[in-house]
Amino acid sequence: MPESLANYAATPNNSRGRLHPEDNSDYRTEFQRDRDRIIHSAAFRRLVYKTQVFVNHEGDLYRTRLTHSLEVAQIARTVARAMNLNEDLVEAISLAHDLGHTPFGHAGQDALNECMRDYGGFEHNLQSLRVVDQLEDRYPQFPGLNLTFEAREGILKHCSLKNARILGELGQRFIKRHQPSLEAQITNIADQIAYNNHDVDDGLRSGLIKISDLVGMSFFSEQLIITKKQYPKLTERQQSKEVIRRMIASLVTDLIETSMCNIREFKPESIDMIRQYKYPLINFSESFIESQKTLKLFLRENLYSHPKVREMTSQAHEIVSTLFLSLLENHKLMPLEHALSANQAHKEIGLNGSARIVADYVAGMTDRFALQFYEDLKK
Ligand code: MG
Repeated sequence: MPESLANYAATPNNSRGRLHPEDNSDYRTEFQRDRDRIIHSAAFRRLVYKTQVFVNHEGDLYRTRLTHSLEVAQIARTVARAMNLNEDLVEAISLAHDLGHTPFGHAGQDALNECMRDYGGFEHNLQSLRVVDQLEDRYPQFPGLNLTFEAREGILKHCSLKNARILGELGQRFIKRHQPSLEAQITNIADQIAYNNHDVDDGLRSGLIKISDLVGMSFFSEQLIITKKQYPKLTERQQSKEVIRRMIASLVTDLIETSMCNIREFKPESIDMIRQYKYPLINFSESFIESQKTLKLFLRENLYSHPKVREMTSQAHEIVSTLFLSLLENHKLMPLEHALSANQAHKEIGLNGSARIVADYVAGMTDRFALQFYEDLKK
């Protein structure tokens, strides 16, 4: 890493280390190694066939979780580099942040949450951590990917108090209401920038929302006016691409400027000071916070609850809950190693145990695999 990293940045030297101690690499920093392990994981490869709003087979133009994760990494790296923070770490967190997501985006997740209600619940954030801590099976020396504390801290964005209590050092900040590293804070906001804007983009592309629906929001219309003035001959599609590009650029600029201003005011001297603040130092200015709230509300009312999206949502719900209940009832429908783990867990801790193995298996499915499995079950 460049020597100019800020003294409150996360670095391999101030890292809290890995659960299973390892020797350092000759050529890579510890956070580069984290990133490389994530890229080589099976869960990462599956992100290409998982979606957020649109189902994977609906069209090749929409975002998948993989392209979303790459966009988050791109935004987060820009911000981290501009602020002299650790680019390797934000990249690792960005690429891993959605590894625990179920097939069919939010709908699949809500369905699995419901299925698991009596068996300890299902939180996608916690599941991402479970993937990197336990479920990936690649290395003979340890379970999971054995990532650094800082990467795991960034992956676990939210966590219920009940779960925080059983997570040891990693859960402490949710109990004490402390903050994670600035790198984790950056990735969290880069995620919001990426999904709000790409949902607008995918929504426009699908025809479910129109430019005329968006002009009521000043954040959108201001950029549209500038775009039209600068390039009067653009088609609507070209216009919307330019407006979205400009919105992302203005969000990133505001984020860097406001966060640098916070840093000048609070003068943190170390990563430990960052972690002890009550509020995140990485944030937008007040007016941008408001405009993002408005945009989110717009998407909820106009895109996520659009009849066509609702139709996909209820299909996804039906598929995920049918798969879960069928597999819980008959473990043998799963591949042998999962069936054996479910039997074993059932023997040791009862239904909570086997339901967790089934949930892990269903959550790991891609959209098309889940769909195919469901169709085979129905035959
Ligand atoms: Mg995300």
